[in-house]
Amino acid sequence: MNIHEYQAKELLRGYGMPVPAGAVAHSPDEAREIAKNLGGDVVVVKAQIHAGGRGAGHFIGEPACGGVRLVRSPDDARIAAHEMLGRTLVTKQTGPQGREVQKLYVEAGCAIDRELYFSILIDRGLRRIVIVTSQAGGMNIEDVAAETPEQIHTASIDPTLGLVDYQSRELATQLGLHGRQIGEFSKLVRAAYTAFTELDASLIEINPLVVTKDGGLLALDAKMSFDESALFRHRQLSELRDENEEDPREREASRYGLSYVGLDGTIGCMVNGAGLAMATMDIINTEGESPANFLDVGGGASREKVTAAFNILLSDPKVEGVLVNIFGGIMRCDLIAEAVISACRDVGLKVPLVVRLAGTRVEEGMALINQSGLDAIVATDLGDAASKIVAAVRARRAS
Ligand code: GDP
Ligand code: MN
Repeated sequence: MNIHEYQAKELLRGYGMPVPAGAVAHSPDEAREIAKNLGGDVVVVKAQIHAGGRGAGHFIGEPACGGVRLVRSPDDARIAAHEMLGRTLVTKQTGPQGREVQKLYVEAGCAIDRELYFSILIDRGLRRIVIVTSQAGGMNIEDVAAETPEQIHTASIDPTLGLVDYQSRELATQLGLHGRQIGEFSKLVRAAYTAFTELDASLIEINPLVVTKDGGLLALDAKMSFDESALFRHRQLSELRDENEEDPREREASRYGLSYVGLDGTIGCMVNGAGLAMATMDIINTEGESPANFLDVGGGASREKVTAAFNILLSDPKVEGVLVNIFGGIMRCDLIAEAVISACRDVGLKVPLVVRLAGTRVEEGMALINQSGLDAIVATDLGDAASKIVAAVRARRAS
């Protein structure tokens, strides 16, 4: 689960991370009020969406205007807010459709000397928490890693020792920090590390972490992601969820308790069992197309649940074909067949459908499909199913 910048800053501030003063605004008047209370020469008005690259992004229909605006008066903060709220911001991370801006963060500006990069995440290869820093802050860290890997410094945390201060001091030196900055940086790393472990975070990214003109350190941006499997331990974090930022397909699926993950491919998959679902996605890739989703309808899914799942697949405009792959052990094939037939009638199936059923009540299920008049292609095994759906999708594309 991701949260907004303003939420991440509030959490991290509580752990002792130095962040600028600021508050969230839902209207232009609120933005002016906050700017007035902040005082100072410069105020920054920032679009709150779950995507980075806002500064270099642009609003649809307004190519000159990005998602991070520096203004010099409360009235200008009001104008900037008016220009941003309710509009769609496109960044490298949103894709061309962009994201609607519904909230702004208005914070005190600062005079920047240098922009650094700082993050904490889990390195699955090392099976450790790692800290990543760079003097090339404010930029896309993947680009820095690809083009100038020598500019990236890491420290991995030994789980039996935890964060050790010399690691922070070494990173501080690599970042070109000196004097009191080294102690300040160590405190900041400790704050971030404590937040990371206590809150079961999977990522804390401060980009940029700035050295201000007066030599202090300040987190100008903050991104946090959390391990959803650990959310039950942190009720207060669940409240930070913003459904507006979630994939509408996933939102609908979670309403029915379905294990669904939206992807960018063209073949909708309905499978039972996570392992079989993964295998189905792999084999679609092997055949040269890509899956539109991961979906495990589970063992004891009701007809209602399966119908909902099928509706979600068919409502996705990117879906050019659907592959149903059910190995019925607990799940009954006839129930799946009925749900598929009724969902296809409801939605009006316009794309090729391949059905592969095996296991409990398979004959009854196949008979239902055959008698339904549905234009379904029947497959005998997983390989057969994947090649048939790929062939059907390609034939439709070519016609
Ligand atoms: P992102 O583009 O979504 O990553 O948004 P950021 O919060 O990182 O802001 C983008 C850039 O705006 C930063 O890298 C800074 O260069 C600039 N910026 C943000 N806040 C301030 C500020 O208070 N003063 C100045 N001068 N620049 C700022
Ligand atoms: Mn940033």
